[in-house]
Amino acid sequence: MSASRTLRSVLIANRGEIALRIQRACRLLGIEVIQVYSEADREAPYVGLADRAVCIGPAAPAKSYLDMSAILFAAEMTDADAIHPGYGFLSENALFAHKIEEARRIFIGPPSSAIRCMGDKISAKQAMIEAAVPCVPGSEGALPEDGAACLEMARGIGFPVIVKATGGGGGRGMRIVHQAEELLEAIAITREEAQRAFGNPSLYMEKFLERPRHIEIQVLADGHGNAVWLGERDCSMQRRHQKVIEEAPAPAVPRALLERVGARCAEACRRIGYRGAGTFEFLYEDGELYFIEMNTRLQVEHTVTEMVTGIDLVEQQIRIARDEPLSFGQEDVVLSGHAIECRINAENPRSFAPSPGEVRRWHAPGGVGVRVDSHVVAGYRVPPNYDSMIGKVIAHGRTRDEALARLRGALREMVVEGIETNVTLHHRLLEDQGFMAGGCNIHHLERLLKESR
Ligand code: ADP
Repeated sequence: MSASRTLRSVLIANRGEIALRIQRACRLLGIEVIQVYSEADREAPYVGLADRAVCIGPAAPAKSYLDMSAILFAAEMTDADAIHPGYGFLSENALFAHKIEEARRIFIGPPSSAIRCMGDKISAKQAMIEAAVPCVPGSEGALPEDGAACLEMARGIGFPVIVKATGGGGGRGMRIVHQAEELLEAIAITREEAQRAFGNPSLYMEKFLERPRHIEIQVLADGHGNAVWLGERDCSMQRRHQKVIEEAPAPAVPRALLERVGARCAEACRRIGYRGAGTFEFLYEDGELYFIEMNTRLQVEHTVTEMVTGIDLVEQQIRIARDEPLSFGQEDVVLSGHAIECRINAENPRSFAPSPGEVRRWHAPGGVGVRVDSHVVAGYRVPPNYDSMIGKVIAHGRTRDEALARLRGALREMVVEGIETNVTLHHRLLEDQGFMAGGCNIHHLERLLKESR
């Protein structure tokens, strides 16, 4: 349902660097910024920058940034035309989007029906199969109750397999099974976990790929039947399923394959009536891409796509929410050079324990091709209540080597005192032979950390 009202104000239902990022796009378009904040974020500079700011509750996320009624009430009080959810928190909550639609405000994201469809991993895969997007081979639909049928299915797919919760997310609710003897117990345990964690016991099964890369495709779709894909990102440098470094384009993945799959992703958007920005996540192994899930929101790493396409993704999200047709077509999307992003976390670089507290000194790097997205200033207190990511340093170059050189230089300039950060880890990773060569798989970073322990 598209609310037929003009878009003069946006309520930002998020915090930290992404709140500031969204504010920047609003200012570009001359849109009023309404920033919500928890008591822990009251003093944050980006809150002061907003045209209006509304406290939505105490520090605990459940009582503020995850509290739908608090945010909807803030929207009503300020008569916000639209709500941007950012990433995390309520950004992929179909009920939240639905409530905003019901309140006749604009949710800056896809229709709640598309969020619901993609949030259920079986229906998401089904939709992808129909659009001829290649998927990991696996069970078509939910696993049956019958153990013998499950065993037969697993043998058909071939061990190892991975048993996954249909409603899963955040890397939880999955179990790898190496041999037939382990299967039924693994299913029983995962089912119980899925029921407990997601309130949905439904499971499905996939071939377990042993050394894949994580490659994802960015899309934009408007409400007028237009959809484009904006190249890919390689996010294989991960620790515990958390991305640490991302880049665009993906080194050494055949262009012809990406173009074929990218076109199908755009086609899938048209078929399911998708609107807004979205990401199709794939595993890449032995020269093939396999869809695993779709994220129906802006992603942390959207910046590297912006750097190589020159397209402001948040601006586009807002234009699409205003019901404008895309002002460019697929042929206008030209990838230029290479971009790499390092996520800066307030954490101990060895133990990864969070390191909240006051940032006594802060100096962000600059220079040609360098971008820093962060809400931090000297004197800012990193609250202990939220994700430890405090910013992103991104470098662009004509080649991957040039982007790498700029990023190394940028990180060397960076000064953060008072809290611990993973900047020293990034120094090491950017000198790592494997990463420098490009094309590492998703286990590379953890293997590296284990070896250096
Ligand atoms: P979530 O929504 O919890 O992030 P995903 O389906 O995206 O779940 O999977 C998360 C991660 O689990 C992937 O990035 C990958 O590392 C691993 N994974 C998922 N499916 C497979 C598979 N079929 N083979 C190998 N690894 C997988």
